[in-house]
Amino acid sequence: MDEFVRAHQKIVFDTTIESLKKHGFDARFCASREEAVSAIMELAADCGSVGIAGTHTVRALGIIPKLTEAGKVVHDHWALKIGTPEELECRKTQMTADLFLASVNALTMTGEIVNRDGCGNRTNSMTFGPGKVVLVAGRNKIVPDLDGAIGRIEEVAAPTRAMSLNRKTPCVSTGYCMDCDSPERICRVTSIIHRQPMFTKITVLILDEELGY
Ligand code: SF4
Repeated sequence: MDEFVRAHQKIVFDTTIESLKKHGFDARFCASREEAVSAIMELAADCGSVGIAGTHTVRALGIIPKLTEAGKVVHDHWALKIGTPEELECRKTQMTADLFLASVNALTMTGEIVNRDGCGNRTNSMTFGPGKVVLVAGRNKIVPDLDGAIGRIEEVAAPTRAMSLNRKTPCVSTGYCMDCDSPERICRVTSIIHRQPMFTKITVLILDEELGY
């Protein structure tokens, strides 16, 4: 990689981690997927149950089988048929798991965590309920500020997610948000975590890789 690209990325990582720490979050840099997996397993060591958000990033780490092998009870609603009573119950159980594991839609260099949900189970679980929250963010999730975060969600994250779900929403054709009124709209709840919530310890793992939407 070009040395100046690398130097720029280091500034972005260092600034983001410093800002998140200043806002009360635990923030760590992970140079590889292996480092991220080790950090998650260390943070999960004293946890009996782990809730998994609907996230490609976390699944790409291959962490779910490792947690199961370590004896954790894993609540993963993607393993269940969507909309069934079991799947909805699984989403609720995630809110009281010892640890909740998710990714983010955007992470700002000014130290905020920004997400937009369809159901709200992910945004709820991130702020109150679980004993610990661990968020894994690829470097592609970092933006300068809150305007950049909303822009990233509307121009990249949500349209791509709608495509992955085979939704018939306008963004699937245009590639950017049209603030639709489609019954299949996936954007229904926006959460900005400005500071570490009072009773929830959040660790952000910034992964030096482009990963997820
Ligand atoms: S509001 Fe509608 S158009 Fe905009 S990103 Fe969400 S689903 Fe797509």
